[in-house]
Amino acid sequence: MASILQFDPASSAARRPERPAPGPDALRALQLASTLQVWLDPGRVIQRFAADLLEHGEADGIAYRDPEEDRTLLHGTRAAHRVAYRLVVDDEDLGEVTLMCRRRYEPAELEGIETLLAALVYPLRNALRFRRLERCARLDALTGAGNRAALDEELRRQMDLARRGGHSLGLLMLDLDHFKEINDRLGHAAGDEVLRECAARIRGAMRRSDLLFRYGGEEFVILLPDAGCEAAVALAERIRRAVSARPFRLREETVRVTVSVGIACHRPGEPQAALLERADRALYAAKRAGRNRVEVHPPAGA
Ligand code: GH3
Ligand code: MG
Ligand code: MG
Repeated sequence: MASILQFDPASSAARRPERPAPGPDALRALQLASTLQVWLDPGRVIQRFAADLLEHGEADGIAYRDPEEDRTLLHGTRAAHRVAYRLVVDDEDLGEVTLMCRRRYEPAELEGIETLLAALVYPLRNALRFRRLERCARLDALTGAGNRAALDEELRRQMDLARRGGHSLGLLMLDLDHFKEINDRLGHAAGDEVLRECAARIRGAMRRSDLLFRYGGEEFVILLPDAGCEAAVALAERIRRAVSARPFRLREETVRVTVSVGIACHRPGEPQAALLERADRALYAAKRAGRNRVEVHPPAGA
């Protein structure tokens, strides 16, 4: 098991006062930093960093554990001798870089590597921050679901993937029943709480690959990549039951909530607006038929 060193540029070898005037390591680090800062995607920054070190024979493999994603990226090949650095800048966790080598690292080599890590940390921090901001801009703050802009973009992308791969794509449109009454009776803050809890119950019924968006006030859309109508109906029923099964506990009250769901499955060549319109018509049919129901467009047998 390799021990993990903490790499913080403020205390690294690269900043030691007794260090002499910039040598070849520092010049290379400078060059590397200017290359890395071009990228705003953490994966690309690491890829470019790894390519540089692999090319110079400083490692046979480089692994990166992303601090915000449940994944480790590997460049090159795994090897027995390892040195791992946890990257930290101003208390911000930037993840962990592990260098792997067939031979043992000498202390002088590690000093050179730490100079290169100093070139990595700031571009990596900027890329991680940019990714966070970009994600925030696509999220609905109340429910954590994707927002309308994210839906437009993702729907376009999923329809394109479905067309090229010949997959199906299911779309669910959900609307809470008589939500205005909840607001009127219990207040807007309680209404917000219901929306949050509803989104959580919906998420709990979804598969990992399904995508949830807040379409408007108390309306949600779910995209089901590569799922036919049967799977879409099964999910809608799971959600309907999850919402209605037990009352929502608010601070001073409990309230029963139900949801109506309209479903449309993408037809080859169908424009985005037409797919949404069909799901909306199915939702309207569910409302007309008494709410707390699931309907599909076109209706079975039509
Ligand atoms: P239906 O069963 O026909 O859907 O009836 P409804 O009362 O749910 O539908 P209506 O469209 O009449 O009311 C929706 C309400 O949702 C009205 C609006 O005040 C409320 N709403 C929209 N966005 C929010 C929000 O972010 N928070 C809260 N608390 N309420 C919201
Ligand atoms: Mg509505
Ligand atoms: Mg409603």
